Amino acid sequence: MAMRKKLIAGNWKMNKTQDEARAFCSKFVGLVKGVQDREITLLVPFVDLFVLQDALTKTNISYGAQNLFWEEKGAYTGEISAQMLVALGCKFVTVGHSERRQFFGETNETCNRKIKAAVKSGLVPIYCVGETLKQREDNQTFDVLKAQILEGLAGFNADFIRALVVAYEPVWAIGTGKNATAEQVGKAHAFIRDGIEKEFGTELANIMKILYGGSVTPDNARELLSLSDVDGALVGGASLDPEKFAKIVKFD
Ligand code: PEP
Repeated sequence: MAMRKKLIAGNWKMNKTQDEARAFCSKFVGLVKGVQDREITLLVPFVDLFVLQDALTKTNISYGAQNLFWEEKGAYTGEISAQMLVALGCKFVTVGHSERRQFFGETNETCNRKIKAAVKSGLVPIYCVGETLKQREDNQTFDVLKAQILEGLAGFNADFIRALVVAYEPVWAIGTGKNATAEQVGKAHAFIRDGIEKEFGTELANIMKILYGGSVTPDNARELLSLSDVDGALVGGASLDPEKFAKIVKFD
């Protein structure tokens, strides 16, 4: 069984000006100094990347963006390429967050193109999947996850699969204060890992990090993150506060 170092990722969504980002970093860096047994990253608005590039130099915290476009450059007004993110020192980029699927027309197919562009440039995509409340109530959870995995990762060879992280984020648990139960998380993560194994083989399934996201707080982090198939967390609301986020990072 591969040892998968836990990854705790903060998703700031559309929050924090550059000044606020600077203030966060000046507290957070000290709070997680010395943490080595888990990886820490912050996924922030594009403009805040400039601040993090400076504020996180020589720390144990990496950073990344929340979206990218799949083309390298050209007439794509308002878009940002993988190369631009790499040039700013990004390590990660989220793809297919449910808010982007809901408000910005992201589909499994556009996610596929974005993941491909990210990996080709050396970024680690965090590919977000998860069912809505209606889909869960209609017993479609596993069909939805299957389609998101098969279509989002269609046509990829082992090098692409090796380079990516998956985040299971049930839409009904995001920003609602209502986290999925340990049982629901365990089943979904096992289903995703089995799907990766069937499609891409045991070795890749064993090394793949699968994060849980949806109302993770300092109070529930331990229960959710110590599950064997849970390799870390994608944290929205609670990542905006340096103290709360540091507590989640340091759960034991
Ligand atoms: C998220 O933004 O991916 C998320 C899980 O948000 P929250 O932690 O606020 O539910």
